[in-house]
Amino acid sequence: MPSSQPPLLRIAIIGGGPGGLGSAIALSSLDNVEVTIYEQAKELREIGAGIRIGFNCWTVLGLLGAAEGVKGHVKTQVLHRNGLTGEILKANPPPKGPLEFWPQRVRRTRLQSALKAKVPEGTIKLQKRLSSLEDLGSDGVRLNFEDGTETIADLVVGGDGIRSVVREAVFPDHSIKFTGTTIFRVLIPVSSISHTPDLTVATSWWHGPTGHFYGSLVDDPSETSPEEQKFEIAARKVVDPTTDLGKKFSWGVPATKERVESFFTNFDPRVREALSKVPEGDWKEFSAFAGPRLEKLTGWDNKIVLIGDASHPLSGAFGSGAAFALEDGWILARAIEHTRTSRTNNLGAALDIFDTIRSPYYLRMYEYLDQQKAKIVEGKAVNPGQTFEDSLKARINSFGGEEQLSWIYGNNIEGVWKEFLDNENINGGK
Ligand SMILES: Cc1cc2nc3c(=O)[nH]c(=O)nc-3n(C[C@H](O)[C@H](O)[C@H](O)COP(=O)(O)OP(=O)(O)OC[C@H]3O[C@@H](n4cnc5c(N)ncnc54)[C@H](O)[C@@H]3O)c2cc1C
Repeated sequence: MPSSQPPLLRIAIIGGGPGGLGSAIALSSLDNVEVTIYEQAKELREIGAGIRIGFNCWTVLGLLGAAEGVKGHVKTQVLHRNGLTGEILKANPPPKGPLEFWPQRVRRTRLQSALKAKVPEGTIKLQKRLSSLEDLGSDGVRLNFEDGTETIADLVVGGDGIRSVVREAVFPDHSIKFTGTTIFRVLIPVSSISHTPDLTVATSWWHGPTGHFYGSLVDDPSETSPEEQKFEIAARKVVDPTTDLGKKFSWGVPATKERVESFFTNFDPRVREALSKVPEGDWKEFSAFAGPRLEKLTGWDNKIVLIGDASHPLSGAFGSGAAFALEDGWILARAIEHTRTSRTNNLGAALDIFDTIRSPYYLRMYEYLDQQKAKIVEGKAVNPGQTFEDSLKARINSFGGEEQLSWIYGNNIEGVWKEFLDNENINGGK
């Protein structure tokens, strides 16, 4: 009797970040698939302190069955301050809706462990740095790894981050550039700053003329004892990228205390006190890179698809990139499931659906950022003698709140998929 199963689909996921892990969970649930994650690192280890998990991310984590292990600090209050004087300029209203969807600041390691726990045993291959890919036509894609090994896949999922080797193979003319922002990140014990007034009472942005200090709790006090609780600092320095010719580090290299503190000498004493408590050797430096939008997220005749930071190199804009990467993986799995038959994998149709849903979403983000930049430039043109206070006002106004950006922070990926199916039915599709 002929099998009612679709033919075997060999899927190679490059990268074990949130995008790669989430895709592996979603794709592994499909029939007759062989899913492997190839990750360059020796061990899966998140760097970069904390991460914001909001409604969009909780929703997709729920669909992946991975929400439960992700616990952090519920962000009931977010303040924007003048970093030099400490004056409160804006207090975001408390979140709305059910508590389970409220935004939290979470240690990155917690998100990673929760996802990893749901990836089927044996899926992740470590120390596999992809060096090149070859298009084998109807035979798939050959992946060549730095250790001299190779493998062949029917579908390659490029989840290899902002400096994606997969993207480079498909779009060799695309490139990313330093944006001018350098971020220094660390987690320190809350106990070391709990006596500093106002620091730990709310997640706070302390904005200065050439950068800002962001501080937040990251632990759920019902899970983590007071001695174990950490405070996240993400301190940003912003320069003109065209004139700053120093060496740039893409991701997580050590920075000295002296270097970091030198950018914040004129900040409020509470900020300087927090910086002074960071142990030497704990700071990690990240240079933000970004690149233009890709017209398409698929390539090589539907054998390659890009997800997460590889697909939209926006350098952490919107602070929701993990959610975007997870949403990509979940939609990809739905599209494949929807288009497979017992005779064919029909990757062409699946990847078209993926691109139809995700490309316009990323286009909207790029357009939004362009508009924000234009507003700031316009403000400077109208008022060339802008004071720090003027530019601060403009910057804080440019922060899209939860409501203004509800199409991002309130995105319900399951609803997006249902809407796609409804439209398909109306238009007489499958
Ligand atoms: C400063 C900063 C703050 C941020 N804050 C937030 C936040 O609060 N909330 C949020 O949701 N997002 C935030 N983001 C964005 C978020 O970190 C990313 O969008 C998210 O990690 C993207 O996931 P990814 O899986 O696509 O890529 P990554 O997390 O970059 O993972 C890529 C993986 O691929 C591996 N890899 C790379 N090249 C190869 C290769 N050749 N072969 C094999 N493996 C390879 C890497 O080792 C890595 O494990 C922030 C980003 C920055 C820079």
